[in-house]
Amino acid sequence: MAKSPKPSTQSPALNRLIDQLSTLPGVGRRSAERIAFHLLKSPRDETVQLADAIRDFAINLKICSACGNATDTDPCPICANDHRDHQTILVVEKPSDIVQLETTGQYDGVYHVLMGRLSPLDDIGPGELNLDGLLDRVKKQNVREVILGMHPTAEGDGTALYLADQLNQLGVTLTRLARGLPVGAALDTVSKAVLGDALHGRRHVDS
Ligand SMILES: [Zn+2]
Repeated sequence: MAKSPKPSTQSPALNRLIDQLSTLPGVGRRSAERIAFHLLKSPRDETVQLADAIRDFAINLKICSACGNATDTDPCPICANDHRDHQTILVVEKPSDIVQLETTGQYDGVYHVLMGRLSPLDDIGPGELNLDGLLDRVKKQNVREVILGMHPTAEGDGTALYLADQLNQLGVTLTRLARGLPVGAALDTVSKAVLGDALHGRRHVDS
């Protein structure tokens, strides 16, 4: 006689949550279980708030059709702002980079979000990034300057090189963010690339 399958001792709701959580990047089965059991012990209204935030995000969040930023409105508030300089585009890897850069209050141009960076090892090539949108904007919108704001990593540098190659053919002024020195870093502990950029990006000292 065939054995009937062993009934699961866990609740279907808990299993479903663990299944869903384990589809997230960087969250394996064990982490998903840990998060689920944490939520089980948390006040119920906090868990409902988290679920509401995810539902609200899924229903209302859009991608700006101009720059690729995450936004509630399309175009995003930055692209819709006529007081910003629409002839200067700062290219970033992801929407959270815009949040960081905006906190400086030092930039009044617009942005373009690539939604990642080139990473051959992870099978992320030019087709996986929001590159065509950038080239289109530069061709059609009388863009004067493109600032490359990729992260200072090997993949970020590779992406910047690729973009520079594409953009140079369009006759636009190309710059990239000076990296500067991290606060507290000894000169002999930072990479040659960072140090070189710190030198090239140097500014006058205001007295
Ligand atoms: Zn936008």
